[in-house]
Amino acid sequence: MIFNNVDFDTYARNYPDKNGYFGKYGGAYIAPELKKAMDEITEAYFTICQSRKFIAELRRIRKEFQGRPTPVSHLERLSNKLGGVQLYVKREDLNHTGAHKLNHCMGEVLLAKYMGKKKVIAETGAGQHGVAMATAAAYFGMECDIYMGSVDIKKQAPNVARMKILGANVVEVTHGLQTLKEAVDAAFDAYAKEYKDAMYCIGSVVGPHPFPMMVRDFQSIVGEEAREQFVEMTGHLPDAVVACVGGGSNAAGFFSGFLNHPVDIYGIEPLGRGTKLGDHAASLQYGEEGVMHGFNSIMLKDENGEPAPVYSVASGLDYPSSGPEHAFLHTLGRVKYDVINDEETIDAFYTLSRLEGIIPAIESSHAVAYGIKLAKQMGTGSVLINLSGRGDKDMDYIIEQYGIR
Ligand SMILES: *Cc1c(COP(=O)(O)O)cnc(C)c1O
Repeated sequence: MIFNNVDFDTYARNYPDKNGYFGKYGGAYIAPELKKAMDEITEAYFTICQSRKFIAELRRIRKEFQGRPTPVSHLERLSNKLGGVQLYVKREDLNHTGAHKLNHCMGEVLLAKYMGKKKVIAETGAGQHGVAMATAAAYFGMECDIYMGSVDIKKQAPNVARMKILGANVVEVTHGLQTLKEAVDAAFDAYAKEYKDAMYCIGSVVGPHPFPMMVRDFQSIVGEEAREQFVEMTGHLPDAVVACVGGGSNAAGFFSGFLNHPVDIYGIEPLGRGTKLGDHAASLQYGEEGVMHGFNSIMLKDENGEPAPVYSVASGLDYPSSGPEHAFLHTLGRVKYDVINDEETIDAFYTLSRLEGIIPAIESSHAVAYGIKLAKQMGTGSVLINLSGRGDKDMDYIIEQYGIR
């Protein structure tokens, strides 16, 4: 399928190019020391990860440890309530640890093991990436250093406890605003010093090449499974697919299964409290081109051109940029990016819980809310939503902030 001069039948092979670019987005804007380390990972990715042995081992782990394939579920009661459109969800909430993140963490840490590394290094904000990394490190018997700002350590006590129980070292980052940005910087610094023995593992399709490519490829299992399962269940492709976009890893993997098919694709960013800078994290919707964390993409900037403060009710979505591939697909028009605010998200959280017995993560609830909106507009047809994670981690917060509805 050709769309705007891009051939999507060969897309995954041609994008990114060998320097890590999706059009003008991507690349590796990093110090020469780190560039050497990234080149080593790229080289290892193209040799080790394409080997039969690696592919077979990852496939076995996905089946026997992660519980893949995760199912696709038909949302019968919700569909009936809305009228004509049939809604479905891909159940990444049933992947081990309760979200999609483990898909790329298991791939990254398995690669680190094949490369002979003894340790993995990562940063975490809300703690979800840290927990997935700690899980993968425990499984492969690797040391694991997770860099986390002091403010986040206080806010995310249950996830800090999980990481420690799994045997990871949580390294407190005490400078600056003591949140995700400083944690990323500290993790990069540590990696530049330790890269001979350690591998850095990023939490989404962001950062310098090869991470946006590698994380997408490890997540592409979600889109592949979902398309095959959907066709088997219904006999046809969905008319539309929807996923939430923070850094963009669950969306990138899910979309990759549909890019070369005649399916409308929607990526949903968090509109938070509204359109004012600081009240949302809708970087593709309101941002401009810029470099942060080692890659060129579309980002939200403050008056000094630095990454702007962002907000969302979903802590996994409050990032001031998105992966370079999303910036590319947005500019190209192959994926339509839209927004959902906090209030619509909480409504969808309760709707899915009450009508279907599935408590979604607040992040995923953004995609559910958009799927519902789309169903009302479409009137007939089918929509497949990627349910990136389960909402157990969010229940205390929801009850405290919104009460039982
Ligand atoms: C982290 C997280 C996200 C956002 O990350 P992406 O890289 O945009 O997928 C979405 N949903 C859940 C459940 C998460 O934990």
